[in-house]
Amino acid sequence: MRYQPVPDYHMHTPRCHHAKGNVREYAEAAIQAGLTEIGMSDHSPMPTAFDDDWRMDMQALTDYQREVESVRDDLSGILTVRVGLEADFRPGSEPDVAAIIASYNWDYVIGSLHYIEGWDFDNPDRIQHWDGCNIEDAWCAYFDLLAQSAATGMFDIIGHPDLIKKFGHRPPEGSRRAASAMESMLQAVRKAGCALEISSAGLRKPVKEIYPHPRMIQHAAELGIPFAFGSDAHSPETVGYAMDDCLVLLESCGIDEVCTFEQRSRRMLPIQKVS
Ligand code: ZN
Ligand code: FE
Ligand code: FE
Ligand code: ZN
Repeated sequence: MRYQPVPDYHMHTPRCHHAKGNVREYAEAAIQAGLTEIGMSDHSPMPTAFDDDWRMDMQALTDYQREVESVRDDLSGILTVRVGLEADFRPGSEPDVAAIIASYNWDYVIGSLHYIEGWDFDNPDRIQHWDGCNIEDAWCAYFDLLAQSAATGMFDIIGHPDLIKKFGHRPPEGSRRAASAMESMLQAVRKAGCALEISSAGLRKPVKEIYPHPRMIQHAAELGIPFAFGSDAHSPETVGYAMDDCLVLLESCGIDEVCTFEQRSRRMLPIQKVS
């Protein structure tokens, strides 16, 4: 490792039906990897049944909070454990999402976009949908929705902010429309005071790239938008995955600190080289 580890704020539990390992196992993996802070961020339930195979059930929410709190209390002084949530943004569901957010004292909430209208564009089973669609339109729709998600003011961190590239579909090089949709999104993020997530998950996906692209990071840096790190671990082995590569990339874009969160208030932590 070239850098002191920073918090990893994006990891899941089996309650979302597609992750494995209990919170204690994630925490122990983090300690092994030299981290001093993590946050769990399982997929939020949706009160109106929606894509239930990919998220917690409403009845699991309290149990999730209790499990994270209990590991947090047990490991106090050894590892800081934050209680977070990854909530989906879908136009129309804001009141429901706001109610879940308001129902608990979260340390932070990640707002993530996994759907364009009814299309779960990041689902490998829905990849054929790409064949019939205009990539530039899909990218613009994605960034428009991301801008709307930031503008709700409900989220502290915008998750994996160019997930749309997951399978390698990209608009033509130099696309003005895509660049301007991305620019408007960054303006919305800045205005809302959100952080962006730098996520190593893309390295494990067909695109084989960190989310987001260096160009977006550069641009965000110019606007003073801060970053938080997330591995998007769906099993304990992935905690802290490729953190060093993400920190190298942030530094190369002139960013020298990352976000930490406690009860939804943000502090900045310097990125430090290992001496
Ligand atoms: Zn997931
Ligand atoms: Fe996600
Ligand atoms: Fe996630
Ligand atoms: Zn995620």
